[in-house]
Amino acid sequence: MLPPKSAPPVWLPWLSRLVLRLGVGRSTALLTLLAWAGAVALSQLAITLIGQGDRWLAALFSSICCLVITPVLGFACMRLVSHLDLEHGHMRRLATRDGLTGVYNRRHFLDLLEREWSRAQRYDTAAAMLLLDVDHFKNINDQFGHLCGDAMLKAVAEALLDILRQPDVLARFGGEEFIVFLPQTDPLGAIDVAERMRDCIERLSLDWEGKSVSVTISVGVAAMRPEHVTVDHLIHDADVALYAAKAAGRNCVRAGDGLFAGKPSYQRT
Ligand code: GH3
Ligand code: MG
Ligand code: MG
Repeated sequence: MLPPKSAPPVWLPWLSRLVLRLGVGRSTALLTLLAWAGAVALSQLAITLIGQGDRWLAALFSSICCLVITPVLGFACMRLVSHLDLEHGHMRRLATRDGLTGVYNRRHFLDLLEREWSRAQRYDTAAAMLLLDVDHFKNINDQFGHLCGDAMLKAVAEALLDILRQPDVLARFGGEEFIVFLPQTDPLGAIDVAERMRDCIERLSLDWEGKSVSVTISVGVAAMRPEHVTVDHLIHDADVALYAAKAAGRNCVRAGDGLFAGKPSYQRT
């Protein structure tokens, strides 16, 4: 069982931002300066309270102690903070990204969507979900090997990312399946994005050991509607539409019922 997660002290993010901005050397110098000023002030306060002693000697002695000890301990501390920051970034990436393609993983996608979902519902804005599956992907592995399959999945993810806008969220949803959430996108806009993705992947060509390898994708589109009480309902509709795209022969886009009517190049499921 994992040990209970303890919250980091409130000053840690503040300190790590400082180290990130100034660098280890300058943060140590700043810390030394502050410690020196503090040590001299304390030595003078002590003499005032005691009522006797040489102020100059006290200031000199506290300055020497402080200027010898603080840079050493401060440097070690700043290095530690900087290292922890790097490690934290690395761990965060491992927890939120898919190891192969670098896009978000399924769990993080669903986490992000909880926020997007409530925002879209609160402001009653349009939004859509696309579910994409690489067609006959097993054949790529069988014909060219698993490494080629991996390289193809990476190339597909990169190509999809290039098409998306900044607020859109792309994730790897399963083996050769990707999912996209399109906030503030009306149904026709979503179908347009899906079709551009399908077209882009159809034209994508991967050079593998002197051979050109290509794939196609099928895309299911679902637009957010009042009946979608949770994210799962929207994903379910996109899945039904994807199934229809597969049934229609693959390498095509299909949209869920109620999404739109009357665009002849697409069919409703
Ligand atoms: P369909 O058009 O019906 O989707 O056919 P398909 O062959 O794409 O679907 P199927 O579910 O039969 O096979 C999916 C294949 O995807 C099988 C699995 O080995 C492969 N796959 C899943 N994840 C990975 C991966 O990370 N790397 C590689 N190379 N292959 C993967
Ligand atoms: Mg497939
Ligand atoms: Mg699949």
